Amino acid sequence: MRKFLLFLFLVVLVIALIYKSPFSALYNYNKAKDLYQQGQYEQSLPYFEKSLFADSKGFLARFFYVMALSKAEPKYSVQKKLYEMSESKIDDEASRYAKVQVRRLRHKLLEGLDSNYIHNALMGNDILRWNIKSFPLKVYFENPDSVPEYYIDSIEKAMMLWSNSTNFVNFTRVDDKNSADIYIKFKDNKKECKGEQCRFVTAYTEPNISDKVLKQMTLTFYKTNPLNKGFTQGEIYNTALHELGHTLGIMGHSDNPQDLMFSMSDSVNNKYYPFAQSMSKRDLQTLVLLYRLKPSISNVKGLESETFYYPQLIIGSDDVRLQKKLEEYKSYINEYPEMASGYVNLASVYSDMGDFESVLQTLDKAEIYAQTVDEKYIVNYNRAVTYYNLQQYEKALNSAKIAQSIKNEQSIQDLINDILKAKD
Ligand SMILES: [Zn+2]
Repeated sequence: MRKFLLFLFLVVLVIALIYKSPFSALYNYNKAKDLYQQGQYEQSLPYFEKSLFADSKGFLARFFYVMALSKAEPKYSVQKKLYEMSESKIDDEASRYAKVQVRRLRHKLLEGLDSNYIHNALMGNDILRWNIKSFPLKVYFENPDSVPEYYIDSIEKAMMLWSNSTNFVNFTRVDDKNSADIYIKFKDNKKECKGEQCRFVTAYTEPNISDKVLKQMTLTFYKTNPLNKGFTQGEIYNTALHELGHTLGIMGHSDNPQDLMFSMSDSVNNKYYPFAQSMSKRDLQTLVLLYRLKPSISNVKGLESETFYYPQLIIGSDDVRLQKKLEEYKSYINEYPEMASGYVNLASVYSDMGDFESVLQTLDKAEIYAQTVDEKYIVNYNRAVTYYNLQQYEKALNSAKIAQSIKNEQSIQDLINDILKAKD
């Protein structure tokens, strides 16, 4: 056995010497350079890579590797390699040239799609969308008879507009709830309202994700508003258009009121547009771009294709993304300084950045403007999570108990259990 292990060790050593040797670096570099000079850029890449494996700092190999990448067909793998070279820790001509080429390639890939709000469309750092081959999406209506017929008609019309405005979105009705991609249900409105100051939503969409796989989108409509009045055809139609945008994967909101995916419930007093709405150019370009990016969560696990866009190349690193979100939420707060939701969103960005001091300060602001039970709950829940992350369990427990007194949900009980476990 020992002899065998020694033998194995020697074999590994010999292989390592061959592949990691200066000889290997030069041999593969020359081979790559030959192919490069013949205009065979794609074929040259593996030899440059072998050369760089043997000598990762090879100045010429790095430079011509970037040249070959920028001349090769910009498939997914090429985009990824070029981006990685642009982010390389080695500061040389190659990484500088890669940065220039990344900008050029981004510009080229975004041709015709540059008017978008893709940063807001993501779910945190995740890119969530359906596999394009899964269209038409299967839609199941639960108890359609519990609402007036025009509710269903209006929702179906909204689906039609999404299909007609794109060349890939499609829906089909099914009778089986479990196999449905989109599960639509109608719910009684139990919210109570006092007088004029009544803020409510008409519908909401929740993704059902398990183990990074999108199982289903649940779209819940309220049957009536809190005053027990039915919604109009226009309200249902406009709401359905917007919520369908979420079911397709646009998880956030546009910051432009001209867009369908602008958040109406964030705007003042649930103001509905009196006219039928439609998707803007920005809404459509955002959706098309989303469906070109490689998803991190989809209904198919590990979805891969050389035709996808490499997300970082398009939307930048996590740092760039968070910085953009930070700016957006700050400008939102400037415009609507008395909306709790703006501060809650801002706090979540600080949390992603790991800046917990700013999270707590921003949540204090949110609390001042929190009006609804949900808003007050979310402020205290997030505060508890933040203290938990800071390992200040006593304070975490206090905030969690306040949240629980506002709304007793399973999620808060789970959090309390976690805090108690951590405390011991
Ligand atoms: Zn929305």
